[in-house]
Amino acid sequence: MIGLLQRLGLSSERCISCGKVFVGFSQGYLCDECLGSIKPIHPMDYSNRLEYVVSYRVFGRYESVLKEIVHHMKFKSSKSLALLLGKAIREHLWEYIEETNPDIITFPSLNLRRLWIRGFNHVEYILIGAGVPYMKVFKRSDMHKPMAFLNAEKRQKAVLEHRLKEELIDFLENKKVLVVDDLLTTGSTIERLAYLLMSIGAQEVHAYFVAKA
Ligand SMILES: [Zn+2]
Repeated sequence: MIGLLQRLGLSSERCISCGKVFVGFSQGYLCDECLGSIKPIHPMDYSNRLEYVVSYRVFGRYESVLKEIVHHMKFKSSKSLALLLGKAIREHLWEYIEETNPDIITFPSLNLRRLWIRGFNHVEYILIGAGVPYMKVFKRSDMHKPMAFLNAEKRQKAVLEHRLKEELIDFLENKKVLVVDDLLTTGSTIERLAYLLMSIGAQEVHAYFVAKA
């Protein structure tokens, strides 16, 4: 039975969120029930102001299904899960794009260590999944460990490793930029990115996050 299903591109798998066995397209990861539960949260708490950022939007909270997806996507290096997440947030993200009308949509660059380990930038694949055109304007050259393993002082240093690509500095002047990232935690990364953009004369910076921790 399973052999036939696999030949048809279907297979029996365990849902990464609820653990239930289900039959779906290979690398489906999530059962229909969990997939269907991925919905934007209203109302979201926006009382936390982000410096240099005109406005921001968050899809959901970093818990239950959304947390499982983000975690799996990052630590199991799953492109297909990133694409799936992109599809799930597509409508919500496009609503915000239409509202803010940015000239450029971009995302933070991964440091080399993580890029080598993972092989791809998961936010880039979320954007591909959501059908959003993007441009890479940031770069990094550091090898810091993931932020979660750093203390406050080292975090602050790590954040400074985010840079703009020099060749795009003139181009970014007077542009409205939307930065998309997976997680909003302390906000230090987005504040650094927005500061960089504003300091070279960008018109305004908006931000979109898949989840708020
Ligand atoms: Zn499930």
